[in-house]
Amino acid sequence: MLRNGSEGRLIMSCSCCHTNMKKGSRACPACGQRCLQVSRQTMLHQVQFPDNQHLAEGEYLFCANRDCTTGYFSPSVMISKSQLRAFQPGQTAMLCHCFDISEAAYRTALADGTAAAIKDFVVQQTKEGLCSCESRNPSGRCCLDSFRQMEKAGDC
Ligand SMILES: [Zn+2]
Repeated sequence: MLRNGSEGRLIMSCSCCHTNMKKGSRACPACGQRCLQVSRQTMLHQVQFPDNQHLAEGEYLFCANRDCTTGYFSPSVMISKSQLRAFQPGQTAMLCHCFDISEAAYRTALADGTAAAIKDFVVQQTKEGLCSCESRNPSGRCCLDSFRQMEKAGDC
């Protein structure tokens, strides 16, 4: 799954990923996109008050499709993106939730040639275990995944 090379090895050392890389993936009941499981810790930090106080037990998955209204879901519960802190109206689309790097800021950096330094910074902090993806990222997964997805999409 991970690419070979130094970046792949760094990501393997990210503590947040180990706790999150759980089995189960399922299709979103609304949009059909493949979704991955999230931890309870992620949900507690992402779901807005007061809904975060009433999360039913169970295994939940996150729908990363921004065009889909589904946030987290289990077989019996659906939590919409509008209930999540990262998807409020006017919210900037984030690339790295841990270090406050928006997609727009990174695109600008790509254009002016400062992107590599920004990514290196994130890689370095991740390597040192200073990221907080499990709490900050609604997917609960390493923000470096988002950098890779942006690269894969041909955006950079
Ligand atoms: Zn969906």
